[in-house]
Amino acid sequence: MDDRQFRNAMGKFATGVTVVAAEVDGSVHGMTANAFMSVSLNPKLVVVSIAEKAQMLEKIKQSGTFSVNILAANQQDLSMIFAGQVKNNKEVVFDHLDGVPVVPNALAQISCMVSATHEEGDHTLFIGKVTGIQVNDSEPLIYYSGKYRSLAED
Ligand code: FAD
Repeated sequence: MDDRQFRNAMGKFATGVTVVAAEVDGSVHGMTANAFMSVSLNPKLVVVSIAEKAQMLEKIKQSGTFSVNILAANQQDLSMIFAGQVKNNKEVVFDHLDGVPVVPNALAQISCMVSATHEEGDHTLFIGKVTGIQVNDSEPLIYYSGKYRSLAED
């Protein structure tokens, strides 16, 4: 089994797209991530998986808090900015929820404090205890087989 085969297989799992954000010394860092899931209802826990080479890793460790922002269909540009797929010269402005930076107009903004960290292979899993939630009603951005998609109407 080679890396490409593994990536291709994992890409067959259609997901939403999130931007994970953390603030250190007043500076916000964002990163596009689709390795996200809910973990527990009571207590309310979520998990994100961050590559060891990602700058975001140290930002979350230093901050102790992070947000997960589920992107709307019209926010593909933000996904591309925070994945480093396009150069961005303008500053992205963040709102705050429970003191944690969040992406304005995301479908859902979820603020968390780090409750556990697990290093697994070349990624680190951050378990986040949910401290705040804000939900907006809109269509989701979808990622499937390496491409951005949107939900088809019936
Ligand atoms: P950088 O690469 O330095 O930053 C990312 C980009 O965000 C840069 O262009 C930077 O300029 C910009 N940026 C950051 N903060 C700001 C700000 N405040 N204002 C304006 N611009 C800013 N990787 C994972 O580890 N886990 C995943 O689950 C994951 N899922 C992904 C899903 C998708 C759909 C895609 C496209 C990529 C995914 N990646 C994932 C890859 C990850 O998004 C990229 O490797 C990313 O570049 C890593 O970011 P970084 O923290 O190393 O920081």
